[in-house]
Amino acid sequence: MIPKCNLHTHTNFCDGKHSAEEMVLAAIDAGMETLGFSGHSGLPFSTTWAMKQERTKQYQREILRLKDAYKDRLHILLGIEQDLLTGIPDYPYDYVIGSVHCLQPEGGEVMVDHSEEVLLEGAKTYYGGDLYRLCKDYYQRMATVADVTRCDIVGHFDLVTKFNEGGRMFDEQDPRYLRVALEALDALLEKDVVFEINTGAMSRGYRKTPYPSPILLRRIAEKRGNVTITSDAHAKENLLYGFADAVHLARSSGLGCVWVMTRDGWKSRAL
Ligand SMILES: [Zn+2]
Ligand SMILES: [Zn+2]
Repeated sequence: MIPKCNLHTHTNFCDGKHSAEEMVLAAIDAGMETLGFSGHSGLPFSTTWAMKQERTKQYQREILRLKDAYKDRLHILLGIEQDLLTGIPDYPYDYVIGSVHCLQPEGGEVMVDHSEEVLLEGAKTYYGGDLYRLCKDYYQRMATVADVTRCDIVGHFDLVTKFNEGGRMFDEQDPRYLRVALEALDALLEKDVVFEINTGAMSRGYRKTPYPSPILLRRIAEKRGNVTITSDAHAKENLLYGFADAVHLARSSGLGCVWVMTRDGWKSRAL
């Protein structure tokens, strides 16, 4: 069973390629049940990808217009991908994805998911060249994401591994990495949140498997955590990208179900 629900969707209101309406039409074509939009919340500094205040208002108006215009054909939700640095949303979104994209070591900023060069340069400048120290900072921030953003969904839990396919930058089995990752995961498993199995880095060619890594996903399964499959789509052709792989991974990690948002709220679907 492939769930036909995706709650992590970007449009040209932020860094996505297509308009929200083009995404809606593609979702209807793909026979989807639910499409949730999750534009990037504005940040306290200028970026090429987050929505500024006026843009956010336009985004809200347009998604609400589409929600109504297509209500007979698709369940559309107005969500937000709330960065840790933006705190609690100041609007009653249908749901919130809480994510950590940026570290703020003393005196600077390091984007976690911009490029391998930016990550290495950030590690060199602020963490003595030690990527494990950088990962520790990332996971200590991640551990707070539910409290700081009041999110419903934890976004790409191990985003810091985006450029680490095959362990080429650091060893994800090394206790210096795994211990801090599991500590953050365990802290969030105590909260009322759903974790993403996020295929976004697969569709964009950075990784061959979704976030989170299998070892972390097994921990979620062991502790009876909840997951939802999302594509982090930045283009209309990727709305359900890699969902079959994600279902396979969820099953092999010991998960019995995934969560989808229906017109009646969250529902679990057996795998
Ligand atoms: Zn993100
Ligand atoms: Zn995203």
